[in-house]
Amino acid sequence: MNNIKLYNQLSKTIEDFVPQNPENVKIYTCGPTVYSYPHIGNYTSYIYWDLLIRMLTLNGFKVNRVLNLTDVGHLASDADEGEDKLEKGAKKEGKTVWEIAEKYIKIFKDDFRSLNLVEPQKTARATDYIQEDINLVDLLTQRGFTYETSDGIYFDTSKFQKYGEFANLDLDQMRAGARVKFSDEKKNVSDFALWKFIKPGENHAMRWDYLGRPGYPGWHLECSTIIKTELDIPIDIHTGGIDHIPVHHTNEIAQTEAAYDTELAKFWLHCDFITIDGEKISKSLGNTYTLADLKDKEFSPLDFKMWVLQGHYRGRRNFSFDDLQAAKTRRLNWRNRIARLYQEDLKNSSFSQKQALEIVNNNLNSAELMALIDNSTLSLDDWKYVDRLFGLKLVESAPDISDELKEIISKHHNARLEKNYALSDKIREELASKNISILDSADGVIWEYID
Ligand code: AMP
Ligand code: ZN
Repeated sequence: MNNIKLYNQLSKTIEDFVPQNPENVKIYTCGPTVYSYPHIGNYTSYIYWDLLIRMLTLNGFKVNRVLNLTDVGHLASDADEGEDKLEKGAKKEGKTVWEIAEKYIKIFKDDFRSLNLVEPQKTARATDYIQEDINLVDLLTQRGFTYETSDGIYFDTSKFQKYGEFANLDLDQMRAGARVKFSDEKKNVSDFALWKFIKPGENHAMRWDYLGRPGYPGWHLECSTIIKTELDIPIDIHTGGIDHIPVHHTNEIAQTEAAYDTELAKFWLHCDFITIDGEKISKSLGNTYTLADLKDKEFSPLDFKMWVLQGHYRGRRNFSFDDLQAAKTRRLNWRNRIARLYQEDLKNSSFSQKQALEIVNNNLNSAELMALIDNSTLSLDDWKYVDRLFGLKLVESAPDISDELKEIISKHHNARLEKNYALSDKIREELASKNISILDSADGVIWEYID
C-alpha cells in the first residue's frame, strides 16, 4: 500500500494516513452557510479537499464523503450571538429563508461543477436533521452535559475533561478576557448553545418545537448529527478552515464524544486563509470576488483552481490578478503541450505517474508535482492521469482539431508558399475566430489553442 502523509490537527504533526477501511474511507467536509454569494476565499478549501479526494481515489481507496449545507442556526458571530445568517440574508433580499437557502445552494452547486470538483457521495442539508439534533441534545442531557438558560440549552464544557485540548485553548485566559461581557446565565465562557429558544415576538422563521416551545439548533450540532447519521463515528478525515479550530470543531468534538464516548475523527485537516493584494477579504474593501467576477475578467474557474493548486492547504496565500494571470498562462501552456501531441510523435515520456502520485501522497504537495510537469515530457495518457489528479479538464478542453480545420491550415501553408499573403492572413483570421492560432516554421505549421 502506498504511503500517504497528512498533517493531523489532533497530534499537530504530519502522520501516516491509513484508513480504517479502504473500501469505505469516511470523510466529512464542513460546507457553506447558504445565505450569500460565496467568494473565492470560500472556494479555496473545496479545491484543496478535491485534491485530497482525488489522491485517495487514485490510491485505490473507495471514498465515502459527506458535505453539509448550513441552512439554519449559524449566527453572525460564531459565539452564539447576533442574528441567524439565513434570517439576515432573507431580510436583506426580501425573500423567505427557504428561498434564500434554495438560491444559494443552487449557486454553490453550479460553482462546484464549474470548478470540476468531485461530487460528494452525499450533500446534507442541516434542516433535514432536526429530529436527530433533538435526539442528540436529549442524549447529552441524560448524560448530564447540558443546562438550560432563558436563551436555550447549553453544553457545559467544564464537564468534558478534554475540552479545548484539540485547539490548545487557554481556558484561563479566555475566562479572564471575557469577564466583562460574560453572560450571567452561562456557567463557563466556553459553553455553547446546542439549542436556541425563540422568544415571544422574536423574528425567526425557521422554528421547530422542542421542550414545548419554538426553537432552532445551534450551529455546531448539525455536523455532529449528520456525521453520526450518514457515516457513523469515528470517521477517517474531517476537513474545514482554520477558523473552525477554536470554536466549531472544538465544540463538535465535545458534543459528539460526550454523547457517544467515541472519537469523532481520526484526522483533522484545516486549510489556511487567502488574502487579496495583502488585505483580508471583506465587503468594505470591495474584494469579495466571486467566481462570476473572475469570469467577467476573462478568467475561467479552472484558472482559479490552477492558482489554488499552486499552493498548499497549510500555507497562508496572497491572491492577486497578476498571479491568477500567471496561473492561466501556465494552464493554457499545458493545454498547448497536449495540442502538440496530435501533431508530433512523442519520442519518449519522461514522466512517471507513480512518482506523480507519490509526490501528492506526501501531504498534498501539488506545487511540487506542477514543477515536475513543467520539466517533463508527458504522453497523452500522462496528461489524462494529471487530469484525474487535479481535475483541470486539460485533455477534455484540448481535443484534436477536425479534418476540416486541418484542411484550412494546409491551405494557409500553401498560400504562404505562393506568397499569397492576403489569403493567408484571411485564413489566419478565420482560424483565430475558432480559437486556433498557427505558427509557421521551416518544418511546417503548428497550431495552438488561443484560449
Ligand atoms: P461560511 O461563512 O460558513 O459559508 O463559510 C465560510 C468559510 O469559508 C469559513 O469558515 C472559512 O473556512 C472559509 N473562508 C472564509 N474566508 C476565507 C478566506 N479569506 N480564505 C480561505 N477560506 C476562507
Ligand atoms: Zn461543521
